[in-house]
Amino acid sequence: MEQNNRQQTIRKETLIKGVGLHTGRKCRALFKPAPENSGIKFIRVDLPGRPVLEATLKNVVDIIRGTTLGINDEVRVYTIEHVLSALNGLQIDNLTIELDDNEPPVADGSAQEFVKALRECGVVEQNAQKNILKIETPLEYTANQTLIRIDPSDTFEIDCEITYDHPMIKQQRFVFRRGDDYPKEIAPARTFCFDYEIEALKKKGLAKGGSLDNAIVIGPDGIYNPEFKLRFDNEFVRHKTLDLMGDLMLLGQPLQGKITAKRCGHGHNIKFIEKLMEQLRGE
Ligand code: ZN
Repeated sequence: MEQNNRQQTIRKETLIKGVGLHTGRKCRALFKPAPENSGIKFIRVDLPGRPVLEATLKNVVDIIRGTTLGINDEVRVYTIEHVLSALNGLQIDNLTIELDDNEPPVADGSAQEFVKALRECGVVEQNAQKNILKIETPLEYTANQTLIRIDPSDTFEIDCEITYDHPMIKQQRFVFRRGDDYPKEIAPARTFCFDYEIEALKKKGLAKGGSLDNAIVIGPDGIYNPEFKLRFDNEFVRHKTLDLMGDLMLLGQPLQGKITAKRCGHGHNIKFIEKLMEQLRGE
């Protein structure tokens, strides 16, 4: 998939059902084509007035173990990053996602099911040109051991590296460029956590829908999942790339630039995007 110059949406609707990773609630997500220049929007069709949440940075209200959108105090959509990543990977600019609860289905913890459903509908070009955000000035975000920087490039690329003090992960690096096969190389990479984190997550009311069907759970000696097999040797860093591609959709326009990310995660991703927006606004 080369960089597409025209905006894209899908040809027809498609429905995905399942439970949310953190809330554990059943949800139906109906993906619908949307007009040019309308962007990505979530609609809570179960609430009075069907509130619309645009997938943009200004609507991000929480970044603990996932990216959450919200408006006012009560309207929320949790864990949007895997859906948004699929849209980034397929270069879809305009889409409406109708939800009848507060978190899209987690599926298998990757973006594979979304990619499959959207491709089956057909991704179609629209008339308007893409409004590409071309990076002209480098920008660097650092916090503790995390670094995320962006440099000018003639395409969109991510060079992602993770470092964990665990024999199964240690250091992994993965490079993705626009034109690489997102559906094959990134979409299947599943979310992961460590066994010792689960209790704490549940105490915070998170990961209620989490199970060995939708997350890789890592213990001291290996992974707990019954098939005991990773989809890639470096599935973990591929998933971090997947998440970052999802969060970058919150810019509201396709990005042209080279991102280097070390030890990134949702909190840092969002702070990096905030800093980037400030620079672009000239603050
Ligand atoms: Zn994720």
